[in-house]
Amino acid sequence: MDWTSNVGNAFAICPNCGIQQVFDQKSSRPFLTIYFIPCVPLGRTLDYLQCTVCNGTFGMELLQLSTHVSQPMQSIVPFEEDLLRAMATIMLEDGGIEEVEIAAAQFAYQRLIGKELTRDELGEVCDHVERMKQTTTNFLRQAEDRWDDDHRRMLVQAMFWTASASGEISQERSAALTALGRILSISEDRFREIVAMTLDWHNDPHHRLA
Ligand SMILES: [Zn+2]
Repeated sequence: MDWTSNVGNAFAICPNCGIQQVFDQKSSRPFLTIYFIPCVPLGRTLDYLQCTVCNGTFGMELLQLSTHVSQPMQSIVPFEEDLLRAMATIMLEDGGIEEVEIAAAQFAYQRLIGKELTRDELGEVCDHVERMKQTTTNFLRQAEDRWDDDHRRMLVQAMFWTASASGEISQERSAALTALGRILSISEDRFREIVAMTLDWHNDPHHRLA
């Protein structure tokens, strides 16, 4: 079943192609499927753009970005949502989501944002990312302008923690993590420092309970 429909076209600078391209605007109705047992249609539809040349998929904020190229990018997406999206892309990078990764994402979110992340919220974002076929690098390239150093640190922590939750890091995810440092302009030393900070989370009593 395809719940995605084409609703129009738009011009924008494609972060992949580096030039203005025609985008298909798509509208998808999210369902909690496959990884998140209940198969429930969720109320609001989610729109996104797909480049007709490279097939890269991007959020609707790409349009704002293109029309104000010379202005500093305003943060129109709350960071919490970016963090969620980042975790979802890396979880889906190797095609499967394990129970232990869901728990890891919930834990990382709680540690970094200080709020509880429900299974349904995470499921909705994973579903959307899956539907958009959005890759980690695509997402990071598109959104990196709106993050400061602290945001970047948190993104690395959340993504590293989630990707390594099952005790081993798959090849696909390892490649995505390597690209992460590069795209976010984080030096190797700083990256290692952040990973070490994140490994400290294993000492958190809440983690041991999970
Ligand atoms: Zn493109």
